[in-house]
Amino acid sequence: MISLTGRVALVTGSTRGIGRGIAEALVGCGAKVAVVGRDLAAAERVAEELGEARGFACDVSDPTSVTMLVQAVEDAFGQLDILVNNAGITKDNLMARMKDEDWDAVMATNLRSAFVATRAAQRGMMKRRWGRVINITSVVGLVGNKGQANYAASKAGLIGFTKAAAKELSSRNILVNAVAPGYIQTDMTAQLGEEARTALSSQIPLGRLGESRDIAGAVAFLASDLAAYITGQVLVVDGGMVM
Ligand code: NDP
Repeated sequence: MISLTGRVALVTGSTRGIGRGIAEALVGCGAKVAVVGRDLAAAERVAEELGEARGFACDVSDPTSVTMLVQAVEDAFGQLDILVNNAGITKDNLMARMKDEDWDAVMATNLRSAFVATRAAQRGMMKRRWGRVINITSVVGLVGNKGQANYAASKAGLIGFTKAAAKELSSRNILVNAVAPGYIQTDMTAQLGEEARTALSSQIPLGRLGESRDIAGAVAFLASDLAAYITGQVLVVDGGMVM
């Protein structure tokens, strides 16, 4: 069984979807968890439902707010051991129609936020010589996708960032890995119709779309001592879709 007793985790974008599933799994393994979204009331509501958790408001596209968030979590819990950079958005369009601001918004939310949060969290982790950073990328960052130039670039960027940070922080026992979900049923993917879902499922070897708990299990494993010799890796959790 995975035990995270005594650990404190921060999961960005954990008011719903994959992030919420991750927060729930980490609490289930014994960690104390900071639940984060842009809306404080929503974050506090989820934290109350989860139990050993507290809600925080932060727009991760704003670097100052991210730095303050990490400080606030360390102040509230006394330490931060596990950082899960999960918050993400899409602003899809074919490149010919993609606006500069849609490129910038996706980069700031999906990619820069992970760098800023990791930079802030590494100080405490270095002092304690134990840390886990888990970046939620996407299979789209590995194989690309039409209409998602901004999103695919941000997710591919997260993979490069993961490897650079893993090399930089390994001597202090801070492990940095990425999880690349395939197609997971959340608000982000809710607009897909029944027909498209069925067509998609038929292309997935395991024959179904993923659920938040499928990703949460991989994150809990990487956060635990069972994964003590794994760093700089991308764990694809996609039912076999892009193998
Ligand atoms: P959802 O849209 O369901 O949830 C997104 C979460 O991120 C919410 O909690 C939202 O909180 C938060 N969020 C969004 N923008 C910000 C922001 N600027 N600051 C702080 N929080 C923010 O997404 P998913 O759960 O589907 O996706 C989670 C991650 O997984 C993303 O990085 C996504 O790219 C990735 N992923 C998802 C896949 C899928 O199929 N669903 C596939 C591959 C990767 P709030 O709105 O309350 O602020």
